[in-house]
Amino acid sequence: MTTEKTRAYAAVDIGGTKVAAGIVETDGTIVYRTRVPMVTTEGPDVAFRCVKDALQNAIAHAGVRELVAIGVSAAGPLDPHTGVVLNPPNMPCWRNFPLGELVAKGFELPVTVENDANAAGLAEATWGAGKGFRNVFYATVGTGLGTGLVLDGKIYNGRTGLAPEAGHITIDYRGPLCGCGKRGCIEALASGTGIAKRARAAVAAGRGNSMMLKLADGDETAITTEIVAGAWRAGDAEAAEVLHETMELLTVWLGCIIDTLEPDVIVFGGGVGELMSEWFPQISELLPKWCINQRCGEIPLKLAHYNADAGIAGAAALCAAQGAHAMVSVDD
Ligand SMILES: [Zn+2]
Repeated sequence: MTTEKTRAYAAVDIGGTKVAAGIVETDGTIVYRTRVPMVTTEGPDVAFRCVKDALQNAIAHAGVRELVAIGVSAAGPLDPHTGVVLNPPNMPCWRNFPLGELVAKGFELPVTVENDANAAGLAEATWGAGKGFRNVFYATVGTGLGTGLVLDGKIYNGRTGLAPEAGHITIDYRGPLCGCGKRGCIEALASGTGIAKRARAAVAAGRGNSMMLKLADGDETAITTEIVAGAWRAGDAEAAEVLHETMELLTVWLGCIIDTLEPDVIVFGGGVGELMSEWFPQISELLPKWCINQRCGEIPLKLAHYNADAGIAGAAALCAAQGAHAMVSVDD
């Protein structure tokens, strides 16, 4: 009796604090997931050991599935053509580190490396909320704001692989300083960090009877985006104003995105993305004011399909895209 093996991908997602790995079938179904802490303070080898451990654990749980490739999603900047991690601010362990080559040597499988937002965008375009749309713009909004662009099923990387960093588009050149060094980036204004900062400023300027302040036990500096969301859900007008302003900021930004790219769909992921998805109708309504493209309101705004699993799904989607390339070259 023979057992027909199902083809599957090993996927690993490397961040500044954890490494997630998993086994993903070719239709995007995640059948196993694991995670280990990422150690970024003890040099390149110790950090790579974390990646190896997570991958080995996942591969040991592949069961009867035949693994055909490994996808690696990592915090950028990195060079997707060579698989070299350049100089990620949250991973000081790696400088010009040949991650792709080492994973390929260690596991003897084809490897594709991409930055996490591009990979997550590809997963949405391949299997998720962007499936069936030709050109997909993806934004993951959490602590920061990462973006990915998938054109005709392929990640758009730019000249050297560093595009798109649309989270660092400045929409107010006198705005707050961003972690990247510029002022008024949409990330500095509308990410979780940016929302919390604006909420603290609103509370500081207020009369001290704010619900947000109460939820933060009277400590203004402890106000987070979760607290803003909680106060908004409980009917607090001040929190509603902070989120209304977030909606306006995102709309101004999306107007620029649509006027540059006119994508077929815009997909939002991440915790703040999920929160702001409740404001999608208001964004669509306000968009024509901030977009020269008067058909901008027709572009669907969608919540991502993969959320906590965006990293693993993204890494696996890289393998699926490579598979398509390989088949083309075999036929040639
Ligand atoms: Zn920035």
